[in-house]
Amino acid sequence: MQGVGFRPFIYDLAGRLGISGTVSNTTEGVFIKTGSLSYVELLDFIKNIREKSPDPSVIENISFKETGHRKYSGFIIENSTETENRFQLISPDIATCEKCIEDVFNSDDSRRYLYPFTNCTNCGPRFTIIKKMPYDRPYTTMDKFKMCSGCMTEYRDPSDRRFHAQPNACKKCGPELLLTDKTGNTVCSRDPIKRAAELLGEGGIIGIKSLGGFQIACDAASEKTVKKLRERKSRPAKPFAIMIGNIEWIRKHYRLSPEEASSLKSARAPIVLLRKNSSTYPLSCSVSFENKYEGIMLPYTPIHHILFKYMPGPLVMTSGNISEEPIASGNNDAKKRLKNICDYYLMHNREIYSRYDDSVIRIFMDKEMVLRRARGYAPYPIKINGHAGSRSVLATGAHEKNTFTILTRKYAISSQHIGDLDTYQSLEFFEDTLINYKSLFGLDEFDIVAHDMHPDYRSTKIARSSISSNMLFPVQHHMAHISSVIAENNLECPLLGFAWDGTGYGTDGKIWGSEIFEVSSNLDFIRIGHLIEKALPGSAATIKKPYRMAAVYLRQLWKRNNSNESLRDYIYNNMAY
Ligand SMILES: [Zn+2]
Ligand SMILES: [Zn+2]
Repeated sequence: MQGVGFRPFIYDLAGRLGISGTVSNTTEGVFIKTGSLSYVELLDFIKNIREKSPDPSVIENISFKETGHRKYSGFIIENSTETENRFQLISPDIATCEKCIEDVFNSDDSRRYLYPFTNCTNCGPRFTIIKKMPYDRPYTTMDKFKMCSGCMTEYRDPSDRRFHAQPNACKKCGPELLLTDKTGNTVCSRDPIKRAAELLGEGGIIGIKSLGGFQIACDAASEKTVKKLRERKSRPAKPFAIMIGNIEWIRKHYRLSPEEASSLKSARAPIVLLRKNSSTYPLSCSVSFENKYEGIMLPYTPIHHILFKYMPGPLVMTSGNISEEPIASGNNDAKKRLKNICDYYLMHNREIYSRYDDSVIRIFMDKEMVLRRARGYAPYPIKINGHAGSRSVLATGAHEKNTFTILTRKYAISSQHIGDLDTYQSLEFFEDTLINYKSLFGLDEFDIVAHDMHPDYRSTKIARSSISSNMLFPVQHHMAHISSVIAENNLECPLLGFAWDGTGYGTDGKIWGSEIFEVSSNLDFIRIGHLIEKALPGSAATIKKPYRMAAVYLRQLWKRNNSNESLRDYIYNNMAY
């Protein structure tokens, strides 16, 4: 995978172990050629690669062979041998690394002290700024910034942490921040983050342009401000996520396991659902009301780190969107769509090419369970170890909480979270993202397009309009869930699959729910259990209003008991409240 600092890591490691040779990155993986090594030296080298490789890189396997003796003088990083339109993996965006945080708070560093776009080969924007492959500065949204001589020296020096860091920038040459009011008039350009922190402290609501789009921030401890945000965002009840710069604060107010702490601090830096410590909970009750869990994240860009230098308290940090629409990413887009929500904008002039929400995870049985897969995760693929076939497949996903997935060369590449396909904006987001993925992964057409069986899902309509009908492959909703669990976790069949996520269109044209399948070793599905069929009062409206379903069950109970009372009296007299 490109852009994760793997070659500089190998260069550095080889130097420390006194190994000579070369390292190159190809579409097949990373190749390291070395001079003569003893078996012990070789094993030590491999052990170090496994244990010390940079956090965002993923090692699927390491193999080695002897190719005859050759002498190398020193260790050389060879240029990548990718060609355009060839398949290669792309790195997700990576949270600011420890060393870059040190640079940002080092007052002796005249080029990077409090510079909010500091990054290196181990961290910073990736997927969100890539316009096309190969991953090279002219093909990113950093192309309009010309590196100064200091940045260029770092970029060309294999021993430097910023060697080939495509978004490399400093105060002299890189992007800039600006604080504006809601109409776009400049409020502060000299110290915009400091001023933004003051305004947040005074109850302001600020749109902050982050890695993958705008976030909306406000003081999480102020009941008045959080209520104001809820009113402006027309979001009466859904919990908000919190960002805080201090993990000790999190430890004090939430139950934090070692696994949860490690996810929070990881290079992916997701929102982690944590259980509140009710006796010490210090925030506005409007942040998440009676929910036992709250979504918490740590700062993941220098903008956030600097903000928390001036603003020690926690902030509500929610997606810059209206309701279920996609997140706003352009400066003008934000000013237009968020104008009734934000008092100010903290904006910059580095363009976001791919929109990307914050990811949400929870720890389940000591492992990450991803609830919303976007920043830090997509477009990293799932490797299919079983039989994946040779044909390329596009799966257009479901209607709500949509993502699509591309299957190619044993990799299942899921898009970032796109959202509910109810609005024009989300359909546009789906289409733009699909065009982008096809271009980045070098795919022109798909051999097969798989879609949900539901005829009214927008994702079904997109599938039907994209390919001739004999290449369409309808999949039953719950079977799709079970299949994806099998693929993602490399499960052996036969097995029993339970899909209790809600309703889905069945193979018999009825709406199914709470399905249990027996899955054979050939991946044949037999439906062996489900909820008893019931009327859905108001059809699809029941999905969003589950009390309607409760009414159906109460009525059934009343009928079964042949009660002489009216339904209303029966419920009133017999139900425990
Ligand atoms: Zn860094
Ligand atoms: Zn520079």
